[in-house]
Amino acid sequence: RTPPLGSGLSAVLDSVLEQARPTDGGEVAGYIPELADEDPEQLGIALASVRGAVHEAGDSDAEFTIQSVSKPFVFALALEQSGLAAITRHVGLEPSGEPFNAISLEERTGRPLNPMINAGAIVCSSLIRGDDAAAKSGVIEAGLSAFAGRTLDVDEAVLASEAATGDRNRALAHLARAAGTLASTAAVATDAYFRQCSVNVTARDLAVMAATLAAGGVNPVTRERVVSEDVARWTTAVMTSCGMYDASGEWLVRVGLPAKSGVGGGIAALQPEQFGIGTFSPRLDARGNSVRGIAMLEELSERHGLHMLEHR
Ligand code: GLN
Repeated sequence: RTPPLGSGLSAVLDSVLEQARPTDGGEVAGYIPELADEDPEQLGIALASVRGAVHEAGDSDAEFTIQSVSKPFVFALALEQSGLAAITRHVGLEPSGEPFNAISLEERTGRPLNPMINAGAIVCSSLIRGDDAAAKSGVIEAGLSAFAGRTLDVDEAVLASEAATGDRNRALAHLARAAGTLASTAAVATDAYFRQCSVNVTARDLAVMAATLAAGGVNPVTRERVVSEDVARWTTAVMTSCGMYDASGEWLVRVGLPAKSGVGGGIAALQPEQFGIGTFSPRLDARGNSVRGIAMLEELSERHGLHMLEHR
């Protein structure tokens, strides 16, 4: 096994990327029609250290929609705004072991089980301050941009496609509203949620966003404090237990890095106090996680002993 990540990082990233390239399993997300048009061969990876150095390989500058990788970051913005006690009255912290779009609310409290599945993420979007969806979206986009260290924009075609086909998400919002855990009307919550999922990012952006959590809430490139240390730790904890949906347990065994995936093909992963990694490859497995993103992160973790429980 090679020693922990250090010098020669760009060569390391090139090597894991080329090793993953021939992997051709999985399918581009089809249930949001606009996503089905993505070039499935795209493949990129970037790593940002907590000191602000960024290394990249492949299509690390290709834009794609953030989708569910937005969830931990919007959860963090909600926590920063209202604190853990207030937010957990609306959304739980337990892994669901269920698919991302599960119809899932805790029976006793009416809360979605966690903020990494759609039901919980929609509740988080509703909790962001602002009287209407436009105001909430303004806060969310500014927050995601602060995590990334550049102004992010929205893919309007994906947004329209998602809004046109988002009935299941609307149903989740109505259920949460009926259970008393949604903080806005269902329409305001889903409008804000659809827009947050349609924000364009690159693998490099995801690396810097994850590195901001790894650095305890300070963006290591811009040096801006985005969230508090407590919020960064709470968010990272929920990524660890719930970030890969119903594959979270297996991910924790095989890769051992807090991570979050999205159906746009992105994954953000991090090692606290060390680095953030962003990967991009559009073909997804049955659970909605990027096949080659998983392959690259598994290989990196294995080769360099990055598992958080590695004996050091
Ligand atoms: N926008 C997608 C949805 O709500 C996000 C899902 C995902 O990335 N897993 O279905």
